[in-house]
Amino acid sequence: MSSPPHTPRTPRTPDVLVVGGGIVGLVTAWRAAQRGLATALVDPEPGGGAARVAAGMLAAVTELHYGEETLLALNLASARRYPAFAAELAELTGRDLGYRRCGTLAVALDADDRAHLRDLHALQQRSGLESEWLSGRECRRLEPMLAPGVRGGLRVDGDHQIDPRRLARALVAACAHAGVVFHRVWAERLTVGRGDRATGVVTADGTALEAGQVVLAGGSLSGRLTGVPEAVLPPVRPVKGQVLRLTMPRAHGPLLNRTVRAVVRGNHVYLVPRENGELVVGATSEELGWDTTVTAGGVYALLRDAHELVPGITELPLTETRAGLRPGSPDNAPLLGPTGLDGLLLATGHYRNGVLLTPVTGDVMAHALTTGELPEEGRPFTPRRFGGAPALPPLPRLPEHSA
Ligand SMILES: Cc1cc2nc3c(=O)[nH]c(=O)nc-3n(C[C@H](O)[C@H](O)[C@H](O)COP(=O)(O)OP(=O)(O)OC[C@H]3O[C@@H](n4cnc5c(N)ncnc54)[C@H](O)[C@@H]3O)c2cc1C
Repeated sequence: MSSPPHTPRTPRTPDVLVVGGGIVGLVTAWRAAQRGLATALVDPEPGGGAARVAAGMLAAVTELHYGEETLLALNLASARRYPAFAAELAELTGRDLGYRRCGTLAVALDADDRAHLRDLHALQQRSGLESEWLSGRECRRLEPMLAPGVRGGLRVDGDHQIDPRRLARALVAACAHAGVVFHRVWAERLTVGRGDRATGVVTADGTALEAGQVVLAGGSLSGRLTGVPEAVLPPVRPVKGQVLRLTMPRAHGPLLNRTVRAVVRGNHVYLVPRENGELVVGATSEELGWDTTVTAGGVYALLRDAHELVPGITELPLTETRAGLRPGSPDNAPLLGPTGLDGLLLATGHYRNGVLLTPVTGDVMAHALTTGELPEEGRPFTPRRFGGAPALPPLPRLPEHSA
């Protein structure tokens, strides 16, 4: 039987220690602290991680995939929370999060893409989601810079965007405001005390950090913390994504008004225009372990496909190229809440929807940390649906870990 989640401790020992300060760990720490739990977070660089690279599409409807109906419910629950979540965070921190309720247009360039989009539209309709089929001409009326060859598309007014870097920075500020204590160092080993209960971590500088409960939120590295018993190791793997950033001139109005995405010859490509003039073009999807090299082939493929959609992009300055790691899980859905080891919870495996899932993750994890149970909407995502982790690719040395 589990011991009570919120055991009284000495003032120096926090109720909760979060391992990992990506957006998932940060939102967990913030919401836990808001609920009155003394909370600490360990990460050499909180606010870094995959959010540095991510496009920030909040795409519950356009990211719908066959077989992911359970995940859809969580994605929609998070999308519904976004307006209030973003407003609360912006007001608390005084920061602009780059949250734009601009909608998304998914387009097709050839007959195969069109058939694929028609299938997606049918699935969206069966799932009760709002999307509208447009002819090529109607697509170009909405987005005049689209290529003349666009054959049709889906208008999804409910899929928005946020700037993940600004979101991460705001979450760091919100955590500090709520009294979260930051330890800017790697956690090397989970400590398991008497009675088989997680009691804290030992950090890279040899410090023992104790806590009432430990949340493992290490993104793609979550399965790598030593000391975690095999049976509860999260089966999370890194999925590399390369992304480009271009700059749109402000003089002639926006190049695009909303996110535009397509499947071009089987490759997913999207263009996310921000209000500050940044245009994010992404993303590759590669199973290459923890490699974050930006390759000529990756950049070439993204530019080639994006150019087919919006020919005018080749005029724009290319200002940044980066690769990051999505924390993938076997069913593409996150692992949230208590594990089979007392005192150890997981918040990981958010894969390609971590930015979208940030608000609901914070609420689900705060509920689990204060009550010991998952709320209704979090139950399908219990880590207990998996056994132990399968073998992972070889790990790089520690200084290379940051995404
Ligand atoms: C190319 C790309 C595009 C994406 N686009 C989107 C998008 O458009 N929309 C969307 O919703 N999502 C998107 N995502 C997914 C999203 O970015 C991720 O799901 C999310 O950022 C994962 O957050 P996280 O906090 O779980 O993990 P991470 O961001 O990986 O953060 C983990 C943190 O844990 C720390 N850590 C790990 N191990 C330890 C340890 N032992 N000790 C201390 N600290 C540790 C790391 O330093 C890191 O800071 C994209 C991702 C990529 C790579």
